[in-house]
Amino acid sequence: MAGARRRLFFALWPDEAVRARLAALQAELPQVAGRWVHPEDLHITLQFLGPVEPGRQACIAEAARAVRGEPFELEIDRLDFWPRPRIAWAGPEGVPPALQRLVEQLARNLERCGFEPEKRPYRPHVTLLRKTTPAAAVRLPEPIRWPVDHFVLVESRPGGDPPHYRPLEGWALED
Ligand code: ATP
Ligand code: MG
Repeated sequence: MAGARRRLFFALWPDEAVRARLAALQAELPQVAGRWVHPEDLHITLQFLGPVEPGRQACIAEAARAVRGEPFELEIDRLDFWPRPRIAWAGPEGVPPALQRLVEQLARNLERCGFEPEKRPYRPHVTLLRKTTPAAAVRLPEPIRWPVDHFVLVESRPGGDPPHYRPLEGWALED
């Protein structure tokens, strides 16, 4: 019998210290209204997969396992707003080359499982607040240093009470 499809994405998942600092940024946003992301849900998406049949999950895990990455550090130094999704987000000013390579490898490996690579340039960000109002970009006086040594496959379960995301499996980024 075919099992239920799961809504999946690859992400960078903060440790508790980084998560606490990201959550503290939510209080620093100039916006006062919107849908706050639950602190346990804060993350950076690497690649969104969407609803996945159980039969494809082995291919996805193999695509992740085949990644040859390296640890790197993210410097979260910017708060900004994107009008189309109407989100306030935090992120690095640029994309570290090791992160760019990670995302490109994942996308390439996932093509074998039938996933189309994203055509838009990769813009790493942590969504802090959804359905909110515009605000000018802010440079953080004290950037958050986020050491990245692994990535995760996450299940998204919209509806109901947050947290909505649950990491299922992780892979180390090793030198
Ligand atoms: P909802 O869609 O109910 O508002 P959500 O966007 O938080 O909730 P998902 O749609 O499951 O939840 O998305 C999971 C993660 O993947 C989020 O970080 C989201 O921004 C990202 N994401 C969702 N759809 C896409 C897409 N088409 N392309 C890139 N990233 C996506
Ligand atoms: Mg969505």
